[in-house]
Amino acid sequence: MQAGTTIFEHMSGLARQHGAINLGQGFPDFGWPDDVLAAGAKAITTGYNQYPPMRGLPELRAAVAAFYARRQGLALDPAQVIVTSGATEALAASIMAVAAPWDEIILFAPAYDAYAPLVHRAGATPVWVALQPPDWQASRDAIAASITSKTRAILFNTPHNPTGAMAGPEMLAAIIGLARAHDLIIISDEVWEEVVIGAAPHVSPLALAPERTIKIGSAGKLLALTGWKVGWVIAEAGLAERVAQVHQFLTFTTPPPLQTAVAAGLALPDAWYDAARARYAVAHDRLAAALTAGGWVLLPTHGSYFVMADLAASGVDLGDRDFCEAAVVDPGVAAIPLSAFNPDGAQTAYVRLCFAKSDAVLDEGAVRLNQARQLTVLRG
Ligand code: PMP
Ligand code: GLN
Repeated sequence: MQAGTTIFEHMSGLARQHGAINLGQGFPDFGWPDDVLAAGAKAITTGYNQYPPMRGLPELRAAVAAFYARRQGLALDPAQVIVTSGATEALAASIMAVAAPWDEIILFAPAYDAYAPLVHRAGATPVWVALQPPDWQASRDAIAASITSKTRAILFNTPHNPTGAMAGPEMLAAIIGLARAHDLIIISDEVWEEVVIGAAPHVSPLALAPERTIKIGSAGKLLALTGWKVGWVIAEAGLAERVAQVHQFLTFTTPPPLQTAVAAGLALPDAWYDAARARYAVAHDRLAAALTAGGWVLLPTHGSYFVMADLAASGVDLGDRDFCEAAVVDPGVAAIPLSAFNPDGAQTAYVRLCFAKSDAVLDEGAVRLNQARQLTVLRG
């Protein structure tokens, strides 16, 4: 991989170069609400385009609170919401707010690629706890063993990118119990909260431990507009204030026309959100059926728009990076190697596939992945 680029940039670049079907970088090619685009366009041409309030437009902060009351039963005051430039800024501001140099933050491996670099940039140290396949949970004992006198926070993500897992009740109870026992902050990255595939509900630790949870959300995922980079943090007043202190010197604000449009998007009826969720499930099932028929062994997805393929169980005797670098050239399909999310970077036997794609892209992607499997099985 070229130094200085993320795995997503790298694989999308190769996909463009080789004319490959891109099931790598996570972005949808369907599903954004036209009304919200129109609200954004109107807000740019007729609305206010100067600095908005540092913590976000009041209408968006109110819309975020109302959305979570409706969808997750959370009782929030809009004052607890701070609008950020995407979940990425929310993560950066939260990490800097809770950790000083030499402090430790617990991360779970595999982890979204931004976590460890952001912890390092804050001068703190990531302490890793491995999630165990196939359901990608961590035990109470494993988390407890990683806590020291320097630990300040546990940063976790549910539903989980890249595995598609959800933190189950035992893991959630362990995180909350240990955080209370050791006075730690829980930074909860819930950007995939609405992309739930299957019956297991999304549970926010903010509902269970409101006194110590920073909940992070992203309109990019909720409204299928990943380039908009409108996100937020939600926390009790004192904690929200600490995050706001960092946010005011990171980005200060987020474009107000986009905030106006996102407020309109969050007010879409439940029927719209339920239909979006159902559409992702259909896309998941379509890709999974075509790949399974082609001999692939997939892991279950409970949330996010990603599914993991098990190379070894599928008869592919290649490391994840070697497979991805080969398949993007011939037959031309991009995936993301799981190793990019692990601290040691050692090749694994798993690749991540994005299924938030139109039927034609999924079908052609599956044809090519099935060819890629055949090619490597025949070679092996
Ligand atoms: N956290 C996770 C787990 C993600 O998957 C992503 C993006 N895919 C982000 C954070 C970043 O979100 P945003 O684009 O809103 O910064
Ligand atoms: N979050 C997206 C993914 O996991 C990509 C984000 C990015 O390109 N940095 O694929």
